[in-house]
Amino acid sequence: MNCAQQLVPNQTAVTKSRSLTFHPRPSLPGLITLALALMLARLPAQAKVMIAADGIARCLIVTQPGATPSERYAAEELAATLRQITGATFVTRELADNVPASAIVVGAGPLTPLLFPEANLAAFGGEEYLMRTQGGRLLLAGGRPRGTLYAVYRFLQDQLGVRYYAPWFTHYPNRSRLTLGTLNVRGKPAFEYRDPFWFPAFDGDWAARNGSTGATARLQAKHGGQVTYKGFVHTFYPLVPPATHFKTHPEWFSLVNGKRVGEGAQLCTTDPQLRDFIVEQVKIWLRETPGANIISVSQNDHAGACECPRCAAVDEREGSHAGSLLELVNYVAERIEPEFPNVLVDTLAYQYTRKAPKSLRPRHNVIIRLCSIECSFAQPLDDPTNELFARDIRDWHRLTDRLYIWDYTTDFSHYLLPFPNYYVLGSNVRFFHRNGVVGLFEQGAYQSFSNEMSELRAWVLAQLLWNPYQDDRKLVREFVEAYYGKPAARFILEYLGLISKAAKPYYVGIGHPDASPYLRFATLAQAERLWQQAEDAAQGNPEQLWRVRQARLPIGYMWLSQWAGLQREGRELSQPWPINPSRKAYAAQWLATVNEPGPLGWAPMNIMRESGQKPVDFAAQVASEPDTSLYAPPTRRAGASAPGDLPANEQQTGISVQDDRAIIFREPDFARPDPDPLASDGVAIRMVAGPNGARGAMEIHGAKLPQTVRPGRYQIYYVVRVELADGVRPDAPAFSARIFDHLAAKYVADRLVTVAETTPGYRSYLVGTIEVHPYSRLWMGHAHDDAVKAVWFDRAFLVPVK
Ligand SMILES: [Zn+2]
Repeated sequence: MNCAQQLVPNQTAVTKSRSLTFHPRPSLPGLITLALALMLARLPAQAKVMIAADGIARCLIVTQPGATPSERYAAEELAATLRQITGATFVTRELADNVPASAIVVGAGPLTPLLFPEANLAAFGGEEYLMRTQGGRLLLAGGRPRGTLYAVYRFLQDQLGVRYYAPWFTHYPNRSRLTLGTLNVRGKPAFEYRDPFWFPAFDGDWAARNGSTGATARLQAKHGGQVTYKGFVHTFYPLVPPATHFKTHPEWFSLVNGKRVGEGAQLCTTDPQLRDFIVEQVKIWLRETPGANIISVSQNDHAGACECPRCAAVDEREGSHAGSLLELVNYVAERIEPEFPNVLVDTLAYQYTRKAPKSLRPRHNVIIRLCSIECSFAQPLDDPTNELFARDIRDWHRLTDRLYIWDYTTDFSHYLLPFPNYYVLGSNVRFFHRNGVVGLFEQGAYQSFSNEMSELRAWVLAQLLWNPYQDDRKLVREFVEAYYGKPAARFILEYLGLISKAAKPYYVGIGHPDASPYLRFATLAQAERLWQQAEDAAQGNPEQLWRVRQARLPIGYMWLSQWAGLQREGRELSQPWPINPSRKAYAAQWLATVNEPGPLGWAPMNIMRESGQKPVDFAAQVASEPDTSLYAPPTRRAGASAPGDLPANEQQTGISVQDDRAIIFREPDFARPDPDPLASDGVAIRMVAGPNGARGAMEIHGAKLPQTVRPGRYQIYYVVRVELADGVRPDAPAFSARIFDHLAAKYVADRLVTVAETTPGYRSYLVGTIEVHPYSRLWMGHAHDDAVKAVWFDRAFLVPVK
């Protein structure tokens, strides 16, 4: 056993945290002088590279004349990180000659051809890197602007095992002796644009270390800069403000239903004068922003494509609204190219422009950013569930080599909703790469820390954007074990599996409601148990305990937001209520956890929905609602017969789908299952309207239909009773009934039933004749008219159609 091992007996990995409150690792004194380092560095020419021994630096870190700020920073980062690993102090020098036999040369320069004759750095791309040993020396270098910095960070991560898990948590292996065998690795990131758009990923140091180039990350010159967008997205109105131009040039704006529209729509992209105007605007914007790499000329975040004969003709010819959009974007790209040869013009393939044109190709300096907004993220994108999107990406790839993706990795309606994409992220990034994607924007919870599994997703995505062909399950496991600690990890991994499995049968989009079919009582009760076990297991480590408690907030949010419905379900299942029975007290505990002090660089969550809701407001709102359970679940009768108002043959072949399979929205105030002797099983969901547009609604998911309902074509009846107020108008709406088909990505039935169509008592209303499958959603809601006191949903009745 050598001296250093006695001084630093802990040979297992240690972690370093930017934490104020937690015990820091004792700092090791800087003992070593440059002279000593040089003396110890006399090694035979072919020996391995000796970096440190006995906690003493055995090599010099060398930069070359003409190094960029990022190359000098790379050397500093290397020195600082090697010190964390070995306890030794490393010296950095700029040298033009006399490089010692034991050295790490960081960055390219005049010495490189002499010391590393086989390293042909001149041929390297701007993010390409090399790690190469020659005798006792190691070269860490690459192209400009970022190759050298990436050489250092890949060396530290891939060769030495450093991990930058969170801005406040870096893992350093602990090795007082560090040597290196022969090394010759040339590499580059898999995508040219890499943006794991989660709040923790905006830290500039973290982003550079994990190889992100996102436009929002706080990357500086020392980090080698970033990809800079001018006008990130939705720039039609910013480029052509309607307030300035609509009066004088209404013809520049979308023709919708025969009228030019200057708000909530788009531009008339085939107008010749408008095109030239946009060319000039783009030039002005770019002259204002000399560092921009990409300019966005992209549709607004609305529908409202222009329907004028000229636009319509292009779209007709191309089979997509992308046709008239792309004609404009190509036109702009061609005309700005002489002045801005290095700027790319980005546009969206989004919603109404998602489908690729038949033959119109984007110019070589145009980026198509295809958006996955309609997809299900409980299944991978190459699953048949997402076939429409897969078709579109293949079609776009046939037309362009500059395909970027705007992908979605959280629930934007509820950042705290357990979102079941943990194990599809890897397969999705690989799917993009296989389909020719070169830039990837992974939009997540980007407005504050501590949303559901933020740090996990930021880190795992950053790894996958660098190299998608890594084992993503292994990455998830590694992160969970390192970040939450091994004792808690098994429970958290079980939780991730639980949520993924529960969500698998459903179509889970990015605006999924908190009243969710996969987050019901049984699943949440199990999740609650797992998080309690994780918290108990983490008790010995304050840092890990804090992380576990933050990560547990989403389950607390689910209890608080679905309190009444979950209590009813628990009673129906005869299960005990697993948390504090006082909603007020539980909300106060939850909010206190949100605001518990944490590490430096972190701040408490303050936005929990994209629309801007704050935890303090949410907690106040739920605390103002009734404190304990409100009603006992009603008792159901068995053996309901078919609805008597249907033809005999339909009564015989139809299948009853009772209301206990429904998800109830805004329970209990606006919708709840109530006893009703007239209902077929003695219970129906009663829906009412409230102030400010509130109304009760319910929904039955295709995956929740009885097994006797085989996928196929059905007439769908809703059996409903309408309770009217006095003096009601016959044309007043009573209820709406809609069926959404996720595979077709549209409503396949939509019926508004008026008072005139109703009769006293229950009646069967034909909603539509449709294909039924697991991703159908049968929805019904009160139509929000005061003339209707309540609508009662007894059941759906599905009659197969031959
Ligand atoms: Zn038009």
